[in-house]
Amino acid sequence: MNVPFVDLQALHRPIQEELNQAVLSIVQRGNFVLGHDVDHLEEAFAEYCGVSYGVGVGSGLAAIELALRALGVGVGDEVIVPAHTFTASAAAVTFAGATPVFVDADLDTFNIDVDKIEAAITDRTKAIVPVHLYGLPADMDPIMRIAEKHNLVVVEDASQAHGATYNGKRVGSFGHAAAFSFYPTKNLGAAGDAGIVVTNDERVAETIKALRNCGQTEKNLHTMEPFNYRLDTLQAAFLNVKLPHLDQWNDARRKVAAHYNELLEGSGVVTPGDAYPAHHVYHLYVIRTPQRDALAAHLKQNGVGTAIHYPLPVHLQPFYKARGHEEGEFPVAELIVSEILSLPMFPDMTREQVEYVAEQIKAFSLVPSA
Ligand SMILES: *Cc1c(COP(=O)(O)O)cnc(C)c1O
Repeated sequence: MNVPFVDLQALHRPIQEELNQAVLSIVQRGNFVLGHDVDHLEEAFAEYCGVSYGVGVGSGLAAIELALRALGVGVGDEVIVPAHTFTASAAAVTFAGATPVFVDADLDTFNIDVDKIEAAITDRTKAIVPVHLYGLPADMDPIMRIAEKHNLVVVEDASQAHGATYNGKRVGSFGHAAAFSFYPTKNLGAAGDAGIVVTNDERVAETIKALRNCGQTEKNLHTMEPFNYRLDTLQAAFLNVKLPHLDQWNDARRKVAAHYNELLEGSGVVTPGDAYPAHHVYHLYVIRTPQRDALAAHLKQNGVGTAIHYPLPVHLQPFYKARGHEEGEFPVAELIVSEILSLPMFPDMTREQVEYVAEQIKAFSLVPSA
């Protein structure tokens, strides 16, 4: 049996005709940037998250950067970012002109260790960017308490957690603003690059609308810093077809994860799960084992696609390492990246596929390691 790591074609098959029509209608109309479909996506996605405003932008990275800029973060400021995340979380801070200050991860949730945030705060700290990694919300109650106490703004990086909840509330509704990526393989994915900022702050939404469009505040009047981070109409039309299916897809992901958890009990690998009062949407299903590399090779040999998210913590990426970081600085993040393995995870995974992957893992763990 072959089990791919993801299967986007299977996801799109039941709605293929609608997706084709949506794309075709944009091509026929000939309006390709912003416009009605983008407005619709902004309203629908903001409502989905339980917030007032949405502003569509070109990528998830742009969404984080513009949210930080609109909240007044810039040159000379420090921003708290988890050491274990996708590089874009930190890159957005760098792009905004500020300096990312990393905080170690929590071994059980893979998210930022909230007990280590306050030690990283200085008089230059302006913001926290918590990441809801792999689809599990960061522990937002303590994070918002720390932010309030130190007068910091919070921009959630919700790029991997569309629809996840914490205390029964959707992610995206906790921070001063939140950023989502619609990269094709995310839980809600476009047909290319796309992203959105959601916020309850009208001024922040209006500022981002101007920033994304060459700093334009009224037609032909460019008041703010000029960026081109506009969202393509085609991407919005594609996402408008997919959004109504998101909850059902997330439920399917949770079923796959529950099945994995059940089958992998006692197999020797550490399985992921819900934590605190949060609802995981399993953008990725990430296990941990000291035999990670051998297990990945064994799975590959047996037709199972896997990946590592991510093989390096951000502070050890050459770009950031060259800016004053070193090995040993964030031991938990460094341990995590040496042991994690992302297993196949997509809404259309069959029970047989999950069973096959679990059997292969169990067969591997029976072999004594060298
Ligand atoms: C995907 C992702 C981003 C960036 O999104 P792009 O749309 O690729 O720019 C940022 N943060 C995290 C955690 C992500 O997974």
